Amino acid sequence: MTDPRVRAAYSEGAGVYRIVPAAVAIPESTADIAALLDYAASSRTALIPRGAGSGMPGGNVGSGTIVDLSIGFADLEVDPHNRLARAGASVSWADVNDAAQPYGLRLPPDPSSGAFATSGGMVATNAAGPRTVRYGSVRKWVEALEVVGADGKVRRVKRGAGSGERFTLSDSASRLVAERFPKTKKNSSGYALDQFAASGDELDLLIGSEGTLAIVTAVQWRLDPIPPDVAGAALGFADLGAMTEAVPYLVSLKPSALELLDSTLLQFVPEAPAVACMLLVEFERETAAAVRGVVGDAVRGLKQSVTYVETAVDRAGLQQLWNVRRLASPALARLPPSQRSLQVIEDGCVPLDCLGDYITGLRAAAERRGIPVAIFGHAGDGHVHVNALPDTTRDGWRDALQHLFDDVTELLLGLGGVPSGEHGVGRLRAGVLERFYGSEVMALFRDVKRAYDPLSILNPGVIIPATDWSPLATLKVGDGAPAIPEDIATRLREVERSAAWATPKLELAH
Ligand SMILES: Cc1cc2nc3c(=O)[nH]c(=O)nc-3n(C[C@H](O)[C@H](O)[C@H](O)COP(=O)(O)OP(=O)(O)OC[C@H]3O[C@@H](n4cnc5c(N)ncnc54)[C@H](O)[C@@H]3O)c2cc1C
Repeated sequence: MTDPRVRAAYSEGAGVYRIVPAAVAIPESTADIAALLDYAASSRTALIPRGAGSGMPGGNVGSGTIVDLSIGFADLEVDPHNRLARAGASVSWADVNDAAQPYGLRLPPDPSSGAFATSGGMVATNAAGPRTVRYGSVRKWVEALEVVGADGKVRRVKRGAGSGERFTLSDSASRLVAERFPKTKKNSSGYALDQFAASGDELDLLIGSEGTLAIVTAVQWRLDPIPPDVAGAALGFADLGAMTEAVPYLVSLKPSALELLDSTLLQFVPEAPAVACMLLVEFERETAAAVRGVVGDAVRGLKQSVTYVETAVDRAGLQQLWNVRRLASPALARLPPSQRSLQVIEDGCVPLDCLGDYITGLRAAAERRGIPVAIFGHAGDGHVHVNALPDTTRDGWRDALQHLFDDVTELLLGLGGVPSGEHGVGRLRAGVLERFYGSEVMALFRDVKRAYDPLSILNPGVIIPATDWSPLATLKVGDGAPAIPEDIATRLREVERSAAWATPKLELAH
């Protein structure tokens, strides 16, 4: 489809960009995708694979042809006996879990976007969530992928099947990867050569490859039994130091979630208790006694440092405690129109012992650049989300935002962190990858890309930066935003404000 209204409806994702594509394709079968890839190879057309469009760093938008995989690949089958689910690329995390739940099973990593994030999108970004602190990112739960390669060939890539013939690492390259990959608990920044070196599985190159190596048509998920008992606590602290000291202690108790709400976020939630920062901790255990016992250990162990405690001994009580976090997003969405919540420094991850320094550095950078921020995230993984909230009616906001982006990149580099813990690199962060990994690892990334997609037709500019990379160009906000019909711009804004990413994008055009 090349209708201008359809193209406009696909010009934005959840991040900061507006890029009007040249065309949109909605394939209904693997054969359609193979045909698209043949066409793209012969015409040198860039294809941008896309799920729900909820990804943050611009991997789901681009100037070529959008390939919308959020509709046509909706098969879902649960095999409870083997604890597996085969989900088409369009199937959301919530749908997988709804189908698995009657068998007492679930897909443990729980992205907050699970209501709409597609199986294809989650695999492509190596998505994660609050429970990742205990259960890892989605990488660990992918048993096999069905993909169509840039050569149009349909393949199934299985865990344990080896490295395949496209790309291998020499011993010296493996040593380089071991030396250069940052030692963070989470990482969705570039091809996962460290995981590939460790497992020898091609699957680990494809997971997290952000639509740049192959198009995913189906995922075979591994499922896990739902633990019988859950409990937790909300713990408030008077200062950042006390909170960061509490984190390693709580991690040692093996929580299933350990979430941070910083004062910069809590100020937007009138219902929140008056504390400088808060940790929400959740435990899952085999018995009610065990789970209550560990909550008791958590509270007793921190009684000197907490200024506020509320506990919950069952699922319903926990839901109540987590309301503070849930209320934060709508509160941010209610900000005045001039103050936009922009995701440009939203996904940094640092070694756990640097968490306090990272938050202190973030607050200082925000102050220096005159841009308010809201800080929250996955404390147990050293992974912090930051919404930048510039006043976009103020002169110079764009330069200030660029400075903030640069400051936070420096900060992460200094702390041995990575720019993305779960959202991916996209277009936004492609140009800073070399600074994190060095030129030799970056050369390996380019080798991977060439091996899988020699003509660079799959999502060019994502992970491997475009020659004219400019992170804050073609923003959806401000004077320079590309023109699209006013009514579609309004609907796209509404999708963003209400997180209605499951809305079929064609509906926005009609
Ligand atoms: C409110 C909100 C909360 C969020 N919370 C989380 C969270 O807790 N954890 C988290 O990890 N992320 C979170 N995200 C980000 C986002 O939801 C995830 O990155 C998600 O995995 C993207 O899925 P999607 O279907 O929307 O993919 P898209 O945004 O459409 O695409 C994302 C990337 O994957 C590629 N891709 C998509 N489908 C395919 C496919 N079939 N084959 C190959 N490549 C493909 C695209 O090219 C792009 O590079 C959140 C986003 C929002 C808006």
